[in-house]
Formats: sequence, structure tokens, C-alpha cells
Amino acid sequence: MKSSFEIAGLRVEPGQRRAEVLELVCAGVPLKMPLYVLNGAGEGPTLVVTAGIHGAEYVGIEAALRLAQRTDPQALRGQLVVAPIASQLAFAKRAIYICPPDGKNLNRCFPGNPAGTFAEQLADWIFTNLIRHADFYLDLHGGDMNEALIPFSIVRRSGNAALDDRSLALSQAFGLPYVVGSVVRGSTYAAATELGIPSVLAEVGGQGLWPEDQVRQMSEGLARAMRHLGLSSQTAPPAPPTRLLEEMHWLRSEHDGLFYPQVAVGERVEAGQALGRVADYLGNSLQAVVAPADGVVLFLVTTLAMNQGDPLLAVGA
Ligand SMILES: [Zn+2]
Repeated sequence: MKSSFEIAGLRVEPGQRRAEVLELVCAGVPLKMPLYVLNGAGEGPTLVVTAGIHGAEYVGIEAALRLAQRTDPQALRGQLVVAPIASQLAFAKRAIYICPPDGKNLNRCFPGNPAGTFAEQLADWIFTNLIRHADFYLDLHGGDMNEALIPFSIVRRSGNAALDDRSLALSQAFGLPYVVGSVVRGSTYAAATELGIPSVLAEVGGQGLWPEDQVRQMSEGLARAMRHLGLSSQTAPPAPPTRLLEEMHWLRSEHDGLFYPQVAVGERVEAGQALGRVADYLGNSLQAVVAPADGVVLFLVTTLAMNQGDPLLAVGA
């Protein structure tokens, strides 16, 4: 007989789903944490899914909600834990990149710090209560309110070949068109892989939109990942072939001002190609943006407004 499953203080019997909005306090600031816990009727691994780590990336949030609400716990083998709006204050404020109370990017704060600032304490809560109990971990993102992107997945290159192979296999099952290796620290999936948990960050959508075809693309990726991990025998259309990209080059603005891109998202570019320019408030050019390598434009900021230090675009090479 399968036993009950408990995570983040929620106990769930086999074949049952529980949905709660937890009340948390991080660095003295109250916030809500919507959480779904499904304890499958059958034995299997624990999959943790987060979305809304960046609060205005809506395709992932909606796909996570549908996954949590539509998965049948009687047909589930294993445990499914879904935090669909992991940064609720950022969601409520429609904040770009950051957590409003301390202005930090939550996805640079993992594994977190229980004595730190708001975002560091929230990262610690998510990591300690949810992610560290996972056998597999998926984090759903997209372009932020000010960004367009083509769908891709990011996996951490940890140096542990067996672990990296499992993350890569999971990203290929998810089936977004590109998979990029990353060595960035502080992110959800990087902290999870430090614990040996195969992890994928999936990016679909952007610009504050959540069109049905993009939500479906994310949902189909989740269905294929669930099947790949043995949690579900639900069918989904087969994944198109994924292209592996070795590296993701982030280009950032050196100035406050206006951004004039000269390429479109998804466009192939060559090393040395002009990608755009940053101008001052009178329109005078301050920075020429040049492709650092041959590759494809994975995301692109689409707002005219630009700030010093902000990303302009990324080239996957
Ligand atoms: Zn994001």
C-alpha cells in the first residue's frame, strides 16, 4: 500500500490532490504561495514544477496551473508538486525581472539565505521546502513583459556527466526547439543540480502575452516530460527534434536610454554582425551591439526603454 506524501507541511493521501494558498512571511513581508500537491495512486518519482519565479512570464504560469488542475492523481505514478506563482508579489505588481520588496532577481538568489533579504528568504523557502525534495525539477519561464523569445530550454552543465545526461534527456523529451547549456549560478535549476537533481528551465512566450498556442506548446512539453519520467502514460504529440547550443551569450546595455534592435528574435546571426544600438535620450548612438559569435537570437528586449546593465538580447551559439 502506497503511503501518504508530505511536502511544505501539506499531507496528501495516495490518489488525492490538495490545493492550498500558503501564507508566508519573508524578511517581514507577507506573501502568498499557491501550491498543488498530487500524490499519485501508483509508485514513482517526485517531480517538482515551479512557474512565475519571474512574475510576468504568463505562459509558464498558465501551463503550470493547467498541469496541476488537470492531472488525474488516480492515474499518476509518483508525486507531482506544482508552485504555479512562485513569486506572488512580482505577479501582483506585474514586475519585470525582480521581486518588488528588495528589487532582486529571484532567479539569481538560489539556493537562498534564511537570514537574507526578501528574495533570498523566498528562494530559501522554495529551495528548502520544495526543490530539495524533488527527484526531477522543471522551472517554467518565458520572455519577461519586455522580451520576445523563441522557445528553448536551459540545462546546467555541472561537470557531472551522468547528471548532465539526465537533464539533457529530460530537456529533449520536453521538446522545445533549442537546448542551451549554462554555467550561470544562483538560478533554480543550477541550485537543484548542485544536489544532483536533474533539472530543466523551459522558456516559452513573452511580452506579457499568453496565447493559447504557446500555452499548449508548454503543456505538451510538460506532458512529454511526465511520460519520459514514468509519472504518466498520457500521450502528447511527438517532440520535434531539438538543436543543441553550446553557449548563451548575454549582451547588456552599458547606458540608460533607448534600444534600437536591427535583428528579430529567432534570426540567425554571424559573429561581428550589427545587432542594434543603444542611444541616449536625444537619439545619439552610445553603444553598437555586435554579435559575439555565430548563432541564433534567443531573446530580444522589445521595449524602446533601456537601462544600464539590463539585458538587450542573447545569442545562442
Ligand atoms: Zn524568467
